[in-house]
Amino acid sequence: MSNDTGAIARQRHYTTLRNVDREVLRQTWSIGYADPGFTTQFGTPPEPSPHHTATSIVKIVTDTRWMYRGACLACPWEGPDRPRRDPAIEDAHDHTHPVWRTLPILDPARSRRGSKTWSLHLAATYPKGWFDAGGPLRLYADPPFDRHEAGRAPGGGFILHTARPKPQPARSLQLTLEEDNWAG
Ligand SMILES: [Zn+2]
Repeated sequence: MSNDTGAIARQRHYTTLRNVDREVLRQTWSIGYADPGFTTQFGTPPEPSPHHTATSIVKIVTDTRWMYRGACLACPWEGPDRPRRDPAIEDAHDHTHPVWRTLPILDPARSRRGSKTWSLHLAATYPKGWFDAGGPLRLYADPPFDRHEAGRAPGGGFILHTARPKPQPARSLQLTLEEDNWAG
């Protein structure tokens, strides 16, 4: 049993397990499926990243209950226990890219107007060098939206989805119109 924390240490330990009880395997932390650094039990664990890199680790508590933590491919940091993956991925970004929650959330429809326009739009709205540093791209999505997508941002970082804001209620819209009339 290894007590070393961090995605690399967990995955190294996980990939050394042979002929162990299935329950032991299920209850051992390993990198989440398709998240950065993921391998199967028989794969080669990833090499440490030169910069803090968000990923997730997961273990199965019972058939219906999985547990996730945000983790990093460069250091032993791990986030709190989460019952779902996406909040764990967000924890990991609080560690790797602390200002990400302050960045604009973009409308994915704009990305369909041509890649050149979209690239210019990204460069104009996100900090210089953000994506080259593996920073995440924030997009609105309509629920039920897909899980946060590893490797889909321009520099290979995550796309992090946020639920689209609800349309303004009709009543407040009406008040706004009335105010406009008074002003006119
Ligand atoms: Zn780190």
